[in-house]
Amino acid sequence: MASYQKQLESIGFGYDTLTAKGYHKINGVCFTVDFHPNTKDYIVSAACRPADETAAASMRQAIQQFAAERKKVIKNAAFDGKQIMIIWHTNDINPDIAKYVMDSVNFISYCIAQFRCVPCCSSCGKESYPDIYVIENNIAALCENCFYNTQSQLAGNMYRENQVVTNYPLGVLGAVLGGLGGAVLWVITSLLGKISIVAGLFAGMFGYLGFKKFGKKVTLTGLIVSLAVSFVFLLAGMYFAIGVDLFNAVKEYGFTFSEAFELIPVYLTDPDATGEIIYNHIFGFLSYIAGAGICIAGYYNDKKVKNRMIKLM
Ligand SMILES: [Zn+2]
Repeated sequence: MASYQKQLESIGFGYDTLTAKGYHKINGVCFTVDFHPNTKDYIVSAACRPADETAAASMRQAIQQFAAERKKVIKNAAFDGKQIMIIWHTNDINPDIAKYVMDSVNFISYCIAQFRCVPCCSSCGKESYPDIYVIENNIAALCENCFYNTQSQLAGNMYRENQVVTNYPLGVLGAVLGGLGGAVLWVITSLLGKISIVAGLFAGMFGYLGFKKFGKKVTLTGLIVSLAVSFVFLLAGMYFAIGVDLFNAVKEYGFTFSEAFELIPVYLTDPDATGEIIYNHIFGFLSYIAGAGICIAGYYNDKKVKNRMIKLM
């Protein structure tokens, strides 16, 4: 099966690569396809509504019937007064999205004809010929009025955000607290005898999240500093966990806790121990890298889509 983008394009839909959303206009009605990778839901929406409430009630019935007939692949379908929404769900690795979308388009086109629907704005519901916009991570069919409102709202947000200055001391404090949390989690899971992928992942993310929370605004410097702080704390946590392990092994010979810790450098250079240590920690490092990767991707994605509004068609 072709890629999601190719499938949408093969049935005449446009595709926004940054937000992975499909869009199309058919007889003035705006259609959008919104993919949620976490839940594997494909939401097909069309901004339109019937002329009166009686028609709306019959249309809701028709929508329920349509969904019931396909209950294996349709999670939910509804009309909220402004748009018809059909939520498809599939666990297929390479699903036939073109088929689901075409099925939705055909059904919605039938509704439009049968219940005499008019195109409308997906935000205020006013009858109009809206245009399709991407607003940050969302897609919407907006009338002229809602477009100007959203635009001035975004301009206001951008102005306020530019006024916010990064507080580095507090940001670093946040990163330290986050890093400490990751390290503690590592020590706990390690003492429980588990190789913790989750602890590594959290360690990779906590520092960044701490910086974001305390420092008000993340900059590239903040991102690098917070990832470095988390890494240092993760190493410290690993070192501490090895020390505790060592103490448990040597305490019966009368070693104290601090004496056991003094043995760590010797222990680390012992070729018999090194293999096991590397094995035990490699998943920690890999999951740290994954966590850091999530933060880096999030940072750049935020920058790209923040306060962005683009007219798609
Ligand atoms: Zn509107």
